[in-house]
Amino acid sequence: MQSAVPAPFPLCLGTFDPFIPMRVPVLTYHSNNIHGNDYANNNHVALAEDLRIIHRKGRRIIPLTKVVDVLLGDAPSTDVQNAVALSFDDGSWFDWYDIDHPTCGPQRGFAGILRDFTAETGASVHATSFVIVSLHAREILDTTCLVGRGWWTDEWWTQAEHEGLIAIENHSWDHNHATLPVTAQRDGIKGTFRVIDTYADADTQIRHASDWLNTRLTPHHTTTLFAYPYGESNDYLVRDYLPNFIHEHHLHAAFGVEATPVVSNSPRWRLPRYVCGQHWKSPGELERILDS
Ligand SMILES: [Zn+2]
Repeated sequence: MQSAVPAPFPLCLGTFDPFIPMRVPVLTYHSNNIHGNDYANNNHVALAEDLRIIHRKGRRIIPLTKVVDVLLGDAPSTDVQNAVALSFDDGSWFDWYDIDHPTCGPQRGFAGILRDFTAETGASVHATSFVIVSLHAREILDTTCLVGRGWWTDEWWTQAEHEGLIAIENHSWDHNHATLPVTAQRDGIKGTFRVIDTYADADTQIRHASDWLNTRLTPHHTTTLFAYPYGESNDYLVRDYLPNFIHEHHLHAAFGVEATPVVSNSPRWRLPRYVCGQHWKSPGELERILDS
């Protein structure tokens, strides 16, 4: 005779045990943010120090794709236990090369900072760079946002993918950036991503950008992650375009900016990230994020 008393827990809801809590801070840095040589005004200084804080606290640094794999049930939650993930935004040369900054002097590129950390500690490290895909847009942004020395080209993206240290993912076609004369937005409204709210604009800004990366970075690359420019999304993208057109854009998840860790029920199409200089401005503030 079978017992009428139900089991206290469902035995299995998927391939992997879903009951280990997931709590992964995703830390975001902008390599163009160099306004001095202190932690609070230079993301390179902050990244170098933060890596050591993360290591000192016994946290592992894992690829951002692994966080999404666990979120979607495609990898065991043990893969993200005690972990942190890193992402970079916009994809300029400062992510990759050491550059002599015109006012702040020599700057170690983010890639060099990651390699230095591994050489010093032996710990593995990985980051995801969300890049602005349009070459034409980057050529203009190189002048309007940097100093017009050709520091926003993309030849290093292939090298990064080949080395496996920094993954390249999608930060839109042109960022709908305010300083561009024309962007892929039907009404010419720029400087915000909230106005990308039709199929045609989303298709260009997101699907077209992913396709370009997949073609350019072939044969080893498949774009699966998107980060909203300015961290700004809208209901059309989060509830309609991204979930309903997966067969076209082939993304697995999208990231915004919200000061919480990724947990097991975080929204797949608007996952949170902490932003350096916005959500923490000192080593102590980062420690509080990691300890919370
Ligand atoms: Zn951006």
